Amino acid sequence: MIEALTITQKRKDKEKRMMKKENCLFCKIANGEIPSHTLYEDEYFRAILDVNPATKGHTLLLSKDHFQDLFDLDRRIEKKILPLAKVLGEYLKQSLDCNGIHLVQNNGKAAGQTVFHFHMHLIPRYEGDEEMITWNPKPVDEEELADVLKKIKEVKNIGQEPRR
Ligand code: AMP
Ligand code: ZN
Repeated sequence: MIEALTITQKRKDKEKRMMKKENCLFCKIANGEIPSHTLYEDEYFRAILDVNPATKGHTLLLSKDHFQDLFDLDRRIEKKILPLAKVLGEYLKQSLDCNGIHLVQNNGKAAGQTVFHFHMHLIPRYEGDEEMITWNPKPVDEEELADVLKKIKEVKNIGQEPRR
């Protein structure tokens, strides 16, 4: 019995280890192989201070397993992220007295992702700090909006459970 349990545990551990990617900086940080300024840790996540912060308290929420981005996440992790980001955001608001918080999560090079291991930014904002995370709104005509909407809706199984 004990042997069976040990084998099951070993298999689980092996599966877990396989979720780490060789030479991934955030795998190493998330799993404590590289030191970081950790403000929160549990079985699945580590939250650290960004070493090049946009503002005071800029935090990165990392998954411990390796997922490239949001679209690569498994369901179990997916469900936990937003509730955890909310709790961490509360901590930042109370401790740093910020006036707002951005949640930023870049997926893909075109979207500015530079470290290809899932992470979410929590960026505290302070009244009067410099402008960031902005875009230039442009006018669009009704035809173009309708065309975009048609394209998006052509994807048949939108809103369904992703396959695992
Ligand atoms: P992204 O551009 O969304 O991939 O964000 C990557 C973030 O990781 C940037 O804000 C970097 O400043 C941050 N970063 C890179 N290396 C480290 C590190 N060793 N410790 C903490 N943050 C880091
Ligand atoms: Zn990784």
